[in-house]
Amino acid sequence: MLLARGLRSRVRPPLWAAAAAFSSAPAASASAAAAEAERAIRDGPRNDWSRPEIQSVYDSPLLDLLFHGAQVHRSVHKFREVQQCTLLSIKTGGCSEDCSYCPQSSRYNTGLKAQKLMNKDAVLEAAKKGYGNGDTSREYYPNIITTRSYDDRLQTLQHVREAGISICSGGIIGLGEAEEDRVGLLHTLATLPTHPESVPINALVAVKGTPLEDQKPVEIWEMIRMIATARIVMPKAMVRLSAGRVRFSMPEQALCFLAGANSIFAGEKLLTTANNDFDADQMMFKILGLIPKAPSFGDEEVAALATTEQCEQAASM
Ligand code: SF4
Repeated sequence: MLLARGLRSRVRPPLWAAAAAFSSAPAASASAAAAEAERAIRDGPRNDWSRPEIQSVYDSPLLDLLFHGAQVHRSVHKFREVQQCTLLSIKTGGCSEDCSYCPQSSRYNTGLKAQKLMNKDAVLEAAKKGYGNGDTSREYYPNIITTRSYDDRLQTLQHVREAGISICSGGIIGLGEAEEDRVGLLHTLATLPTHPESVPINALVAVKGTPLEDQKPVEIWEMIRMIATARIVMPKAMVRLSAGRVRFSMPEQALCFLAGANSIFAGEKLLTTANNDFDADQMMFKILGLIPKAPSFGDEEVAALATTEQCEQAASM
């Protein structure tokens, strides 16, 4: 027994056998992220995704998912270019809806002072993009918002698309949803007849006074998983590292850019919550070798992004 073991350890496999074992190894361990990234690069975007297909991509080993997100990103986009968007709030606070995460809802006592609606010309001048987060999955949506339905949201997106306005629609993670809900959100977006031009991935900023004030902060690994999955299933979209970015360090944000994020919100304030310091962002671009991407809509320097009903108000004025 001992002798046999000793002999076996001294017998080298022929070179051809070693080569065959090497070349078959990646195929045997190929993840859904690898397979779908290859398909996205070869065939381009598709919108016939099944939910299990997206779940499999999402469940791929994290570093594999990140790597293949990066592959798709580099094959479709100039990987150094990152869009810097600015939020324009056309009416702050005093909102009649009850989104559980939002300090602007008049139902929660967050200390936010309501402001007047901006005038029509100023809004139309600025607004060249339609914005309407899906927020979360259809199943989890009623836990977060009861004053409107998921179908209302989808209908808004359809109206925006029909009006010839580009769509900015993503979601928020950290609302207490399950991972299946995150996949459900991506599935909704990736099966729209045309993918949104921009897909913001937000990490909840838990605001005191809202029903979600005690939610556990989202971890960077969760963001990377969402971003890389979004990149693979919607290869051409601008995937935006959005709210909650202020909590992530520069190396953590670098991983998000590597995974496929190519857009951020810039400016020290989002609609009502803190955002990253402008100078720190400039420094990050310099250190990471990122280049600001030119706006892709007209000559505006500011993307006017408002919440859905604010867009509706603007559109109906
Ligand atoms: S509709 Fe928009 S502004 Fe109103 S509560 Fe919800 S997220 Fe806030």
